[in-house]
Amino acid sequence: MSISTPPVGIADIGVTGLGVMGSNLARNLARNGFKVAVHNRSEGRTQNLMENHGSEGEFYPAASMEDFVASLSKPRVAIIMVKAGAATDAVIEQLAELMDEGDIIVDCGNSLFADTRRREENIRARGLHYVGSGVSGGEEGALWGPSIMPGGTKESYDRLGPMFEKISAKAEDGAPCCTHVGPDGAGHFVKMVHNGIEYADMQLIAEAYDLMRKSLGWDANTIGDVFTEWNKTELNSYLIEITAEVLHHTDAKTGKALVDVILDQAAQKGTGAWTVQNSAAFGVPATGIAEATFARSLSGDVEERAAAQETLPGFEENFIIPDPQAFVEDIRLALYASKMVAYSQGFELIRKGSKEFDWNIDLGAMARIWRAGCIIRAQFLNRITEAYERNADLPLLLADSYFVEEISAAIPAWRRIVAFASQTGVPIPAFASSLSYYDGVRAEQLPANLIQGQRDFFGAHTYHRIDGGEGVFHTRWAEEGRPEEQWS
Ligand code: NDP
Repeated sequence: MSISTPPVGIADIGVTGLGVMGSNLARNLARNGFKVAVHNRSEGRTQNLMENHGSEGEFYPAASMEDFVASLSKPRVAIIMVKAGAATDAVIEQLAELMDEGDIIVDCGNSLFADTRRREENIRARGLHYVGSGVSGGEEGALWGPSIMPGGTKESYDRLGPMFEKISAKAEDGAPCCTHVGPDGAGHFVKMVHNGIEYADMQLIAEAYDLMRKSLGWDANTIGDVFTEWNKTELNSYLIEITAEVLHHTDAKTGKALVDVILDQAAQKGTGAWTVQNSAAFGVPATGIAEATFARSLSGDVEERAAAQETLPGFEENFIIPDPQAFVEDIRLALYASKMVAYSQGFELIRKGSKEFDWNIDLGAMARIWRAGCIIRAQFLNRITEAYERNADLPLLLADSYFVEEISAAIPAWRRIVAFASQTGVPIPAFASSLSYYDGVRAEQLPANLIQGQRDFFGAHTYHRIDGGEGVFHTRWAEEGRPEEQWS
């Protein structure tokens, strides 16, 4: 089938880049009653979409970028859904050349927010609007309703928002899982943190599974049953639900549990690492996300793991677990507590990013638009929204009354599990670091005073005294008996 020239100014919105995500997003828009222009660099994908799904709605296929842009009604809205990086830059340039003042370019790919900030500035200077929008939910989400996190100007949201809200997932109360996140790169920043939290959530679940596997010797199917039960508790979420399904799945080739024939090396596409890099840059201790990202790296370190397996002893202790059900409940509570820490850290990162770039992000609204459609969708997100409704300036999510109560109830179990895993040699980086973070953030006194002493000793970096007001002090450490000097 050859593609003919579409009518000028007919389509409500266009999608260029008809890979898995782009074609599903275009179908979602068309099914929701929008006239959708579609374009892809290589014509084959456009033809495929028309042949297989052309009857699902009103599509306007275009063979060239010129025809694609011409087919859009003004102010034009063109969504880019191509590979992040250079491909996105190339497509932005092609669109910007053909578009007019007031038109809107929307990047729905997984772009780094810093790239989005740069692109937005450049495109704004050319009189166009640029929207970097996070989209979560994978290919099914794109087709049936994703969680959408658009940044960019308020004006662009006025044009784009109603369409995005219509195609987005809807939470239980019917609210759309889409809102204007904030200016320039805010949308992609929030999507980045969403993915970071997703890493932490997945790692915590994997650690819970590993503990049951190694400490109780349970098979995948039995552990799958535990996750099915857990999905009826506060942990109710998409990731717990699919974990049960993955664990219950049998390999057609061997008849074994499929999870037992999957190689234990986790891949990553980089959004976890971006979150870790930015949390370090903003000084946010997002330890759960960092441990989850590094745990994937460790799993892929084939050579290092082989060398360690041959040489490093564990001196593990063996314990008999008298009550497996009580042990499993302890794991559930440890998972829940660690999850609260990971989300608290993620929201802390959004808060700091918002402050740094003056985005004025509504934190409660971010939890609200993650309640459906996205990978971390969970009942639990309602509690986060409620916490920010109680106090929009909450300095730490964990300090909200609901979380104080929930985490308090989980602490004894959390400590038992971390201690047990340490003694028996089961690696639980996310459980353990979350507990350490928790103890750190609530500690009245941290050993940072000693670090300040060391820094002043070797580098004259100065320190504050607990009784010294605002001024900084330096001690001449080598000269015994010399008092410190106040430097400012
Ligand atoms: P695919 O690999 O399925 O498709 C890639 C698309 O990019 C194709 O249409 C391809 O065109 C196009 N493309 C690549 N390079 C260029 C270029 N230089 N110029 C023009 N077009 C180009 O990707 P996905 O649909 O999976 O992902 C698209 C975006 O969505 C990515 O940024 C991804 O990170 C993001 N995303 C993906 C999710 C997922 O679950 N897959 C979830 C959320 C976001 P051609 O056919 O001509 O090669």
